[in-house]
Amino acid sequence: MLNFILLVTVFLIGFITGGLLNPIIVFAPKKNYRNVSDLYCPYCGRKYKFYEHISIFSYIFLNGCCASCNQKINYTNQYVILINIIFYFFSYLVYGFSPFAIILDISLSLFLALAVIQVKYNCIPRKLLVPCFILSLLTFVPQIGGEIMYYSKLIAAAVAIVFYFILAFSIKSKKEEGLALITIAIILGLQNFVYALFLSFIFVILFLIIYSKKGERTFSRVYIIPFLTAGYFISALTGVLFL
Ligand SMILES: [Zn+2]
Repeated sequence: MLNFILLVTVFLIGFITGGLLNPIIVFAPKKNYRNVSDLYCPYCGRKYKFYEHISIFSYIFLNGCCASCNQKINYTNQYVILINIIFYFFSYLVYGFSPFAIILDISLSLFLALAVIQVKYNCIPRKLLVPCFILSLLTFVPQIGGEIMYYSKLIAAAVAIVFYFILAFSIKSKKEEGLALITIAIILGLQNFVYALFLSFIFVILFLIIYSKKGERTFSRVYIIPFLTAGYFISALTGVLFL
């Protein structure tokens, strides 16, 4: 019974946090990157209020409609709520309600938002990335970071920097992608970070194979953050099993 209550709690936290990701995704990019169709109602032209971007709130209190013209609001980021719940669920199964789990959950949610933002708006807002980086530094405290030693984190960060320079020379990668790599490296420590990089690399290869088979238009660059986030998630939650 207690387990059931805890699982429902985890579900609710994942659900509510996931719901808050939509306004973060819409507002975090700088003004010139934001998308007009996400900010204004296409029917009456009014700018959506902050709470109208929270789809859960909107469905409960406004029937999912624009508050002034009553036309349905087109929420395009609903899948992030589901992914967020999955993140939190597995994080709970592996780490329970620990300080490390809280940092992992917040950073995974922010990375999820960053992944969507990079694909949708082609930018990586530092106002999301820098808090993630600061959170990662907290894991240097043994009571928070758990068994992963500080030198493992430092070596991982060094690997991240080297990897970033390789990326920067091979594809035009952004400085923010370097900071994202360092953040994940510090949270995971060396073994799991290398595992996360390996997984991300596999995902990129799979994506390129599927993408080229579809014969769609050629892409100018591969976005790093979505693949990195997927690698980070799976590594953080399965790394303890294999390593
Ligand atoms: Zn409207």
